[in-house]
Amino acid sequence: MSETILATEATIRLAIFLGVLAAMALWEVAAPRRRREIPRVIRWTNNLALVVVDTVILRLSFPILAVGLAVMAEDRGWGLLNNIDVPVWVAIIVSMLLLDLAIYLQHVMFHAVPGLWRLHRMHHADLDFDATTGLRFHPVEILISMGIKLAVVAALGPPAVAVLLFEVVLNATALFNHANIDLPRPVDRVLRLFVVTPDMHRVHHSKDPRETNSNYGFNLPWWDRLLGTYIAQPAKGHEGMEIGIEQFRTQRDLWLDQMLAQPLRGPASGYALDPNSGLKDPAE
Ligand SMILES: [Zn+2]
Ligand SMILES: [Zn+2]
Repeated sequence: MSETILATEATIRLAIFLGVLAAMALWEVAAPRRRREIPRVIRWTNNLALVVVDTVILRLSFPILAVGLAVMAEDRGWGLLNNIDVPVWVAIIVSMLLLDLAIYLQHVMFHAVPGLWRLHRMHHADLDFDATTGLRFHPVEILISMGIKLAVVAALGPPAVAVLLFEVVLNATALFNHANIDLPRPVDRVLRLFVVTPDMHRVHHSKDPRETNSNYGFNLPWWDRLLGTYIAQPAKGHEGMEIGIEQFRTQRDLWLDQMLAQPLRGPASGYALDPNSGLKDPAE
């Protein structure tokens, strides 16, 4: 079972990734939520090139990734769930919930700590919001995230199949909840009880720091509601709101070389614990 999971992991993940990306791209053409500000060719070329860079760096940096470590932990009896007697379906559900909570908390941390915000703000510096925005993460953020995920897997000892499911679902929901698609409002209202929708996550990409520092969930919407970081809609409405952050607002900033250099450029303003961010009215 474990060997099968490892052997087919790359193929399953690539197929689902390409399938969901193509589906979202078509949906964005058929029913867009907002008018595009930036020609698609600039953003798509650079955002997709970044995915290739991230994938290569990740594979070269880590001898083992999350699913591989979960298989190893199962074999060797590492981690909480490999040492207590629970039905496998309970272990799968608990693992997926706790992995999602860990990703939520990690996302809050990347917004709260100035040095980490320098890395994560590249995700927010995209000037339009569509499926490829969901792929836009600095390689150093990807490495730190993987380190945290490996630590969670080692401590928790989740079933390998739960980790694979979690990663596949997270990849798919990240493409979905960044998509520039116009879900009927009643559908959005019901759907966001169970999953982060594009309208919910778009608030997180608002230029207004109060909205940037809200709606941290990538997958399940419950953590934001339980822990008080939920904002239902942007103050200026989805069509009127500005996407991005204060810094990096030219088309040149959307190029791959500029994205990679962004952590080192300018001050780390606008993070969640920034004592200055409340002083100036972001509406001005
Ligand atoms: Zn964020
Ligand atoms: Zn996002």
